[in-house]
Amino acid sequence: MSILEQFRMLIGGKPVDALSGKTFESQNPYTGESWARIPDGTAADVNAAVAAAKAAFDGEWSRMTGFARAACLRRLGDLVTANAERLARLEVNDNGKLHREMVGQLNSLSTWFHYYAGLATTIEGRQIPAPNPDYLVYTQRDPVGVVAAITPWNSPLLLMTWKLAPALAAGCTIVIKPSEHAPASTLGFAELIEQAGIPAGVVNVVTGLSREVGEHLASHPDIAKVAFTGSTATGRAVARAAADRLVPATLELGGKSPQVVFPDADLKAAANGLVAGVFAATGQTCMAGSRLICHADVHDELTRLVAERAAQIKLGDPNDPATEMGPVANAAQYEKVLGYLDQARAEGATVAYGGAAEDALGGYFVKPTVLTVKPTDTVFREEVFGPVLSAVTFTDEDEAIRLANDTPYGLAGAVWTKDVHRAHRVAGKIRAGSVWINAYRVVAPNVPFGGYKSSGLGRENGIDSLDPYLENKSVWVELTGGTRDPFILG
Ligand code: NAD
Repeated sequence: MSILEQFRMLIGGKPVDALSGKTFESQNPYTGESWARIPDGTAADVNAAVAAAKAAFDGEWSRMTGFARAACLRRLGDLVTANAERLARLEVNDNGKLHREMVGQLNSLSTWFHYYAGLATTIEGRQIPAPNPDYLVYTQRDPVGVVAAITPWNSPLLLMTWKLAPALAAGCTIVIKPSEHAPASTLGFAELIEQAGIPAGVVNVVTGLSREVGEHLASHPDIAKVAFTGSTATGRAVARAAADRLVPATLELGGKSPQVVFPDADLKAAANGLVAGVFAATGQTCMAGSRLICHADVHDELTRLVAERAAQIKLGDPNDPATEMGPVANAAQYEKVLGYLDQARAEGATVAYGGAAEDALGGYFVKPTVLTVKPTDTVFREEVFGPVLSAVTFTDEDEAIRLANDTPYGLAGAVWTKDVHRAHRVAGKIRAGSVWINAYRVVAPNVPFGGYKSSGLGRENGIDSLDPYLENKSVWVELTGGTRDPFILG
């Protein structure tokens, strides 16, 4: 039996085991073997982490200026870059993401920390002209307090950064709870916090196998804000817990994003965008462009191009630089994706490529799959979270827009056409938080990201993403020094 790597949680600036002393094992989806031992925290560990974050919020951190916090954020970004190889390896072991994609992602993560370092120095209130000249009125922005950040398994470090960086920029403290399916990279990242000069207790990480750990954190009385990324079903539970306590929650949830291809599109570019949208990261991205809405005139040619490329995709070891698609991240997800493929066949889908497991490789491999379906088919309507593209056809623009919007989700979408008028017209009508024109799967720290409808509440990234981490206080200053009629308002 191989020796498992040991990880510890971060609470109050100290690497710690779970109070119970218990651990759980994290499996590598490529080898199918356990590779890491993770602290199995419970509600008691959450309580300790929230208490540490609360104490840190009231301590040195609250006295630090935006410039001092910015310096911490910049150092943290540099440390992520310096440790990119190690952190990439941890995440690849945990969720089977490609090593080369992870190294690229980690190198770009520093731009998030640097961007929010800049924003930390711009937080300001404003003077408000008062209707009564006896008063000076100004607003002041205060950090909300202790933030609960709960993340999924598909991109733990990226989605953690989208919460941690604005929280620190705003002056909040934080308790992070990564997914039980991929906790190691977040624990590895936690080892960098002290080196970045961030005071003890400002950043805490708690892990645990039971979903009750997240539940307890989201409903903890000392949490002032919840930032969640995960499934829509869990998002609803988190929103309910936050509502019960009247704390705000930003929710980044699931998707079933449309890629609308018009007959004048550059079909090679569209095929490439479809591959990027649904086969990159084995389709396990919230923004997966999994619904191809294709003009009937180009359906056969486009699905042929995508199926041809799908057949060439090199499946294999995520650590091999030549590999293009790794395994599905865990056993439950593997079964779920295969279940959707069975159901698609039962509902009459035509398979242009794939449609089954890739048994020859062992591990949880699923063939990249290209299906043609009906708009009512389950695989076209529900989030598969795997490498499955489902195509339907349309004949006019209105029908294309109707099909694109006929979903409870609204996270992302794309329009492929060379007609500049149509491109903007259709992009404007797609009910989704991000729409790419002749492109897919691009994000940046300064561009808002989030969902319409059941894909979420609020936005991460961009200049306004600090707002949910800040309170707005109005300060009234009486200027005359006199005594006023106490029975008159103002
Ligand atoms: P999940 O909802 O099962 O779990 C997400 C996190 O919530 C985990 O850490 C989990 O332990 C925790 N959790 C579970 N129950 C909880 C509860 N009752 N209260 C609080 N926390 C709880 O999601 P997942 O399977 O890890 O991730 C896949 C999902 O995430 C997909 O639906 C995907 O679309 C979505 N996702 C969305 C985005 C986005 O930005 N919109 C990005 C990535 C993934």
